[in-house]
Order: sequence, then C-alpha cells, then structure tokens
Amino acid sequence: MIRHILFDLDNTLYAPQAGLMDELDRRIVRYFAEELGLRLPEAVRRQAEYCWQYGSCTEGVLRDAELDLDAFLSAVHDIPVEQYLAPDPRLDALLRRLPQEKWIFTNAPQEYARRVLEALGVAHHFRGIFDIRFMDFVGKPEPTAYRRVLEAIGARGKECLMVEDAVANLAPARALGMTTVWVTPKGGPSPPWVGVALSDLMELESALRSKEDGS
Ligand SMILES: [Mg+2]
Repeated sequence: MIRHILFDLDNTLYAPQAGLMDELDRRIVRYFAEELGLRLPEAVRRQAEYCWQYGSCTEGVLRDAELDLDAFLSAVHDIPVEQYLAPDPRLDALLRRLPQEKWIFTNAPQEYARRVLEALGVAHHFRGIFDIRFMDFVGKPEPTAYRRVLEAIGARGKECLMVEDAVANLAPARALGMTTVWVTPKGGPSPPWVGVALSDLMELESALRSKEDGS
C-alpha cells in the first residue's frame, strides 16, 4: 500500500515549457563564467561536466575548491519564479484528491522550493521539503539521499511512490522498493526501473489506481 508520494520539484510539478529550468541553467553558466573567469562555451562545458560526473551541478560545486556553495545556490536560485509560474488549479485539485502524504524531494534549496510551491498555489499540500541541505549537498541520484528521506518520514520503500522527470533519479528509488513514476512529456522507451511513464502529471491518479489494483 502506498502511503507516501515523493515529488520532484522542477519540471515535474510544472512543465518544462515554463522556462524556469532554462533560466536556472543560464544562471549556472553565468555563475561559472564570472566566478571562474571562464568564457561562456567553457562555462557551458563545466556545467555539463559537473552534471555528468556527479549527477548534479551542486555536487560539482561542492567539490570545486574555487567555488562557494552557498553563494552558488543563492545566485542561481534567486529567480523571480512568479514570472515563470502561475497558480495551477488542476495540480491543486489533483493533489487534493490524492490521500497519501505528499513530500518534496529536490536537489534545489528549500527556500527556492517553497517559492515555487507558492507560485503554483500548492504549498499547503506538502508535509515537508527534503532539499539539498537536508542531503548534505549530495543529492539525487546518490542512494544515501533516498535512505535519509525514508528514515525521516518513517517509511519503507514499498510504501512510497516517487514522481520525477529525470529518469536516472528513479533508479535508486526502485532499488529501495519504491513505485516509480516517470513524467516524460517527450515519451520514449522506459528503462527497466520505471514503473509507470506518464506524458502528463495529471495522469498520476489513474496510474496509482491501476498500480493499487494490480498489487
Ligand atoms: Mg526535475
């Protein structure tokens, strides 16, 4: 029985077309360029390297002695999110209908996550936010992050469902017994650790129902 739903934040609770993640990426590149004295193409490469090597840019920054992690997180996430996001009544209604406990599990910092949830008008649905500081800056897809979340909510993996747009972040969830839902507007073949692939988060309810029926 699924008692908890762990939601990723960016590009999961809102669609990529909102443009917020694109702006985050631009800010990361600008930050690398300014702080490390890189030209833009080099800064783009650095960002890609960090994401590839560590799974998240934040972990790359954490390990880069030249960069200050708190300054990085503030500079990158200090975005007027209201310019990109609007209250989403359909999301609000969906979350209201789901009886499970809902949590945010994000590699972004807490204060940014809260602003995103408020801009979407859905903050009141969530019991809590597990952010990059909660994970000691070693975020998804590092398995320790998932174990820490399970411990904090007092649940076993099989009692949880995780919803994510970044498919690699679902592999450790599946390994811990969670039901995995991949939100993928573009579609495409699902890796074996994906339980259900949805082109739209609004299909979550029926996916959950068929999962509960089948187990
Ligand atoms: Mg995401």
